[in-house]
Amino acid sequence: MSPPAPSAKPAVLERITERRANSPKCARCGLVNFRTEATCKRCGASLDEATNDTTHAATASAAMLPEHAPGSKAAFLFRRAAAVCGVTALLLFACYVSLIFSSAPLNAEQRRVVDRAIDVLDQRGFARDALILRRLVNYRASDNWWNRYVGHADAYAATNFPFEVVTLYPEFFNKSADDVERAAILLHEAQHLRGRGEEDAFTTVWRAKRQLGWTHDSHGNTRVWRNVSEFTEKHAPKLFRCGPDGDTDCYE
Ligand SMILES: [Zn+2]
Ligand SMILES: [Zn+2]
Repeated sequence: MSPPAPSAKPAVLERITERRANSPKCARCGLVNFRTEATCKRCGASLDEATNDTTHAATASAAMLPEHAPGSKAAFLFRRAAAVCGVTALLLFACYVSLIFSSAPLNAEQRRVVDRAIDVLDQRGFARDALILRRLVNYRASDNWWNRYVGHADAYAATNFPFEVVTLYPEFFNKSADDVERAAILLHEAQHLRGRGEEDAFTTVWRAKRQLGWTHDSHGNTRVWRNVSEFTEKHAPKLFRCGPDGDTDCYE
């Protein structure tokens, strides 16, 4: 008598497993019936229906597979991207909060001065800049940690883009001549609030000065005028290459 083949036992197990897998389970009461039964021995429900339902379910999940099934690669990448976005948003928010908490707010009088300057922009045709300055900005009266870290050279104001935090230094309030001059400073910051650099900011204000009512004739001997014209010439020298001598302000 030859010894049983090594594969004998696994083969039997396999058959049992197969039999169990094929044994119809009742959809109504859950009893596993013999394959030969047409109806459930416990509750009498039709077992054909149960088999059909299982087939439908299998087809449905197969249809889901390629793109959006929970376990697919696309779903994994989507969850990964969502996590990265979530962490980034959280870090940006934490940064914003730290900028606010490391600086002082404007007092009520300072806030009124700012509102008047924004009104000037609104009245003289700079409605979009006025809207940004009025709705999006958190104004601060002292430097936050970021400004302290990078430092600022003799400024009236500083903007932290994209956080839309604008710091207004004491000079903004007590070294400026009037609301029009403060409007000119805010118009400069409004360009930074849109993500633009110094050259764009100085150029925009220099071109807008006549419309703004801030000209050499009206403000030529104020401190802000002197500072702004000096910095404009430094950042946008081409604005001063006009006239027969090529050395005259193009927007005067
Ligand atoms: Zn049953
Ligand atoms: Zn600037």
